[in-house]
Amino acid sequence: MMIEQDQKQAMLTFCGGAMGPTGSNFLFETEQKNILVDCGLFQGERINEDKNDDPFLFDPKEIDVLFVTHAHLDHIGRIPKLVQEGFRGIIYSTPPTKDITELMLEDSIRVLSRQAREHGMLPPYEEEDVRKIMKLWRTKEYHEGIALDDDTVVTFYDAGHILGSAMVEITYNKKKILFTGDLGNTPAPLLHETEIPQDISCLVMESVYGDRNHEDKEVRRQIVRQAILETVKKSGTLMIPVFSIERTQEMLFELNHLVENKEIPLVPVFLDSPLAIKVTDIYKRYQDYFNNKTLDIIAGGDDIFHFPMLRFTESVEMSKAIAGVDGPKIIMAGSGMMNGGRISHHAKRYLSDPKNMLLLVGYQAAETLGRKLQDGEKKVEINDHNVTVRAKVATVHGYSAHKQSDDLLDFVAQLAESDELRKVFVVLGEPRSSLFLSQKLRDYLDINASSVRDGDSLDLLF
Ligand SMILES: [Zn+2]
Repeated sequence: MMIEQDQKQAMLTFCGGAMGPTGSNFLFETEQKNILVDCGLFQGERINEDKNDDPFLFDPKEIDVLFVTHAHLDHIGRIPKLVQEGFRGIIYSTPPTKDITELMLEDSIRVLSRQAREHGMLPPYEEEDVRKIMKLWRTKEYHEGIALDDDTVVTFYDAGHILGSAMVEITYNKKKILFTGDLGNTPAPLLHETEIPQDISCLVMESVYGDRNHEDKEVRRQIVRQAILETVKKSGTLMIPVFSIERTQEMLFELNHLVENKEIPLVPVFLDSPLAIKVTDIYKRYQDYFNNKTLDIIAGGDDIFHFPMLRFTESVEMSKAIAGVDGPKIIMAGSGMMNGGRISHHAKRYLSDPKNMLLLVGYQAAETLGRKLQDGEKKVEINDHNVTVRAKVATVHGYSAHKQSDDLLDFVAQLAESDELRKVFVVLGEPRSSLFLSQKLRDYLDINASSVRDGDSLDLLF
């Protein structure tokens, strides 16, 4: 490679997240610093999960700094392993990402310890490890540059994906590389639009929905409303499986809107997830991260996560007591794809009665109970019980937290307007999705775009 006098060399290595939507982990090596972006868990198929125990493609002791895009486990879940194996650098994220990460890592200990016990193994990490991680962690707001040395400045931009989610822009020798993390399906109910950083020359972008579009955002609230009205009419129970971050708070926000505007009758609503309740508390602390529309509603005196007959059921006793409340009622509980969590107890109780309804909010991964129900299976096994499904099962797709294919293309088109964009690496999607998007970027925008594989390493000139 010919290096001109004012140019510098850097190396980009895809250490995880290049061959699937999870396991986000990218290494950017400049002449002075070894920079890591995300350190996430591989999730999903069993074969992927085993990959979490594989050695890193770098020496954790040699990493100077880790930037975390957001607090989903597939972006943070291997930080304990990183620190156990000798990482002593600084971790940076936005303030909400730090707080939610601490909660998510602590919450995972319970599940991971149980799984380890079942296999006669030691838990992968403990509370002491989380404390060690948090001591290394510093926070920066969006747009506040972090100078790593004379040549290198790192800046967070709002990705609009979940609370505190950021794109990571590294300016090295005056040229810029941007790591998108996950890109939000904006406009979202609570968050700002995804920002468009300027003068990016190299882009590493997600592609979860690289090959498909969502249903119209306009209809999503109406689908929720219809599901509630239908259930109320039959005096049944409406179950909504929710993810604890963003999806829960969006649903609370939507229900709050429907109740306050008298678009649905008042019925008991239960948020039956200790983790989701704790995450909602963090959302309440960071309201200045919400979009202007939401801030206006709050300024008008409305508590957006609170409305009449809403109950947060934290303890097991409170959760069990929900069964004693006669219909109609609404239960939101985790997990979002029904592979465990309190929703499975409710599903076992309510799915066999045709007056009840299950409303799935978005994508359900293969092999999960949510997916089986979405696919119309009439006999399912829940916690070792056979359940015959007679309840109605519906899906609302419009609340996806990821940009759809057309919007990913539009995002790149806007970045390309500054005329600096030379190279796009498409990652964080199923191979079919990544390949489709990189083809689309080449065809429609005439941009040098390609999908890459984990382990690929490239020399770049800056
Ligand atoms: Zn995410």
